[in-house]
Order: sequence, then structure tokens, then C-alpha cells
Amino acid sequence: MSKMVVFVIPACNEQSNVLVIASAIKNIMAPLAYDYRILFVDDGSTDQTLPVLKAEAAVNNHIHFISLSRNFGHQNALKAGLDFADGDCVIMMDADLQHPPDLIPVLIQKWEEGTDIVYTIRKEQTDLSLLKRKTSAIFYDIINNMSDIELEQGTADFRLMDRKVVEAFKQIREHDLFIRGLVKWMGFSQSGVAYYPAARLSGESKYTIKKMVRFALQGITSFSTKPLYMAAYLGFSFAFLSVLYIPYIIYSFYQGHTVSGWASIVAAIAFFGGLQLMILGIIGLYLGKLFMQSKSRPHYLVKETNL
Ligand code: UDP
Ligand code: MG
Repeated sequence: MSKMVVFVIPACNEQSNVLVIASAIKNIMAPLAYDYRILFVDDGSTDQTLPVLKAEAAVNNHIHFISLSRNFGHQNALKAGLDFADGDCVIMMDADLQHPPDLIPVLIQKWEEGTDIVYTIRKEQTDLSLLKRKTSAIFYDIINNMSDIELEQGTADFRLMDRKVVEAFKQIREHDLFIRGLVKWMGFSQSGVAYYPAARLSGESKYTIKKMVRFALQGITSFSTKPLYMAAYLGFSFAFLSVLYIPYIIYSFYQGHTVSGWASIVAAIAFFGGLQLMILGIIGLYLGKLFMQSKSRPHYLVKETNL
């Protein structure tokens, strides 16, 4: 019996892309000696994504779908797909064809050579907006400096995982998923393949600036407690500096111009006020994480599936 490859594809409002990616995968897989199945995760789409998938699933037995009860976000949708995907290996990729299907045989070949996790690295492309490239570069710098994991610039959520890796991944109970970090953290044998992203086929990116900042903060605070230490060090440094300030105050007092210190007092209050808020914010982020984790709600809820 030939081995089974399961594709996990999260889709949020991708009505005009899902069939295109399905047929692209079909063309790639046809000459290969593998069974395959495409598992779409409809992440609370409000367009025709689900009806399109249902209609296709009725006539094409390679197509399966899970429809979540609402939008749970890209990372949770991927988790849902991984939880349901059987098969000897799982390949996850985006629905918008930015992850080139041509790479699929390369991923499978590396897996056959014994690699448990074959991840992909997005190479620079001028098509991608300058903003997205720059913010992405800054993000990888920060996460690599602040945490114990080392992520290559441009690591994408386009990867192949062996069955045993998928089983291991299911054991992770973390609330704020940052899958590319978790995958690095998991170990096993890993190797990377570079690719040049295509432009989105149709529809628009669901990652707005606001979501990207949130995702970056989630990634950093999931893998590092360094910001907490930084906050403490900053606190110590300024406490020390303000001690140095005291001799100056006493000196001014004897000079008799103590009243003229208004500007410096206001400046100091504003500065330390800002600093305190920032540090409280950092602590708050971690506290929020603990709070959400302590409720241990499921990552997603399934409304409907044909599995
Ligand atoms: N996606 C999802 N839920 C979301 C946002 C995105 O399932 O809340 C899917 C989306 O349909 C696509 C993939 O995740 O298949 C990547 O999203 P997108 O292309 O919008 O991100 P970008 O490529 O711009 O980073
Ligand atoms: Mg995309």
C-alpha cells in the first residue's frame, strides 16, 4: 500500500483560491506514487468558502474539510488540521498559493531521505511589500536575540511533518500558539528548503499590521522571559541613577535655588511614569498569558466536518 500524504490548508475567506490550490496539488501528486488527501480547515469564513468546499468534497474523494465554529486564527486553524490529519506525513500550506506547490515533491523527497521535519524559508522577493519584509526582518532579529530558539529569517508555516512529529505536536497544550517556534523547539531531525513566495492569487491578506504586531508579541513572550528581566534591570538602573541625583539636590538646596527645579521635576515624572507603564505592560502581557492558560479552553471548536 502506498504512503498517505495529508495536506492541511487553513482557509479564511478563500472562496476563489481553494479549488485552484486543490487542483494544483492534484497535478503535482498525480505522477507520484502516494495516496493523498487534502484537509481544508475553514476558519470561520464569511464568504462562499465552505459551500465551495462541500460541493467539491461531494465529487472528489481527496477533499476533506473541517469547519470551525468561528474564526480562531491561522495558528489555531493549523492546530485543528494537525489534530485531525492522519497519514504518514502532513504538509501544511496556505490556501492563497503563496506557498508554491512545485516544492511539494522536494519536501516529500527530503522526508523519504529521513528528515522528520522539512520546513521552508521564504526568500526575499521584491513583490512583497517593503513594510512586510522590514517588519519581518526586525521580528526575527528580536526573537533570536531574546529567546533560546533560533529561527531562520523568513521561516514560513509551509512545512512537512512526519507522523511521529504530528503526534508529538498534539501533546502541546500551550494557549498562544506560535507554531514555527514550537516546531523548532521540538527537535527531531529538521532541514530547511528555500522558496520564493508568489503573489497572493486572489483575496487579501488577513494579517493586518495590528495582527502582525500581536503575533510578534505572542511569539516573543511565548519563548522568552527576557523582557521581564529587562524590566527589572531597567528598574534597578533608574533607581541607581536617581540615588546619584540626591547629592545634586542637596547641593542645589545650599545654593538656594531649589524652587527653580520645576522643569526637571516634571520631566522626571513624565519619564518615570512612562517607564513604569511600559514595565507594567510587559508584566501584564505575561499575566494575561497565565490567565488565558489557566482557563485552558480548547484552541478551536468544530462546527461541521466530512471526516
Ligand atoms: N488564515 C486563516 N485564519 C485567519 C487568517 C488567515 O485560516 O484568521 C489562513 C488564510 O486563509 C491563508 C493563510 O492562513 O490560507 C495565511 O494567511 P494570509 O495569506 O492572509 O497571510 P499572509 O500570507 O499575508 O501572511
Ligand atoms: Mg498569504
